[in-house]
Amino acid sequence: MRALVDRVLKICEEVSSIGACAKCGKCCESPIFLPEDRERICKHLNISKTYFEKHLAGRKPCPFLENNICKIYSLRPIVCRIYPFQLFNHGLFLVGVGSCRLATEIYRKIYDENRIKSNIVKIPLIELEKFLHIKGANNRHMPKNKKF
Ligand code: SF4
Ligand code: SF4
Repeated sequence: MRALVDRVLKICEEVSSIGACAKCGKCCESPIFLPEDRERICKHLNISKTYFEKHLAGRKPCPFLENNICKIYSLRPIVCRIYPFQLFNHGLFLVGVGSCRLATEIYRKIYDENRIKSNIVKIPLIELEKFLHIKGANNRHMPKNKKF
């Protein structure tokens, strides 16, 4: 599973922007921080795990979202890095098709299809890799001209 996560992460990092993210912040409603995300964020922000658990974890929307921009973009959790893809035990899925503009655009590019049949679609990794060749993006909330 970890190898798959790394592969998807790499793919998402390699993908260049198609400018489809509406920066609506909808995907930051319920953040998921895995243990390694918590560790990385605490270390870089110099905060204790106790503080994180007490004041940041579980808050909705995400406490790191400000004016629909991620304040910890370079430290953001794995789940955020690969959104609008999600990895489950039974495969890789594209989520938010129809409600997330980026997901919808990716769906249309992969399947060359305007009619949306489902808001969650299982994606064979090969389809995602093919998508790289027609240029996609997972560049949400990237602030313009801002360095972290
Ligand atoms: S990735 Fe989708 S849901 Fe998230 S901000 Fe962009 S358009 Fe909105
Ligand atoms: S992208 Fe940033 S603001 Fe959005 S859920 Fe992830 S950590 Fe929070």
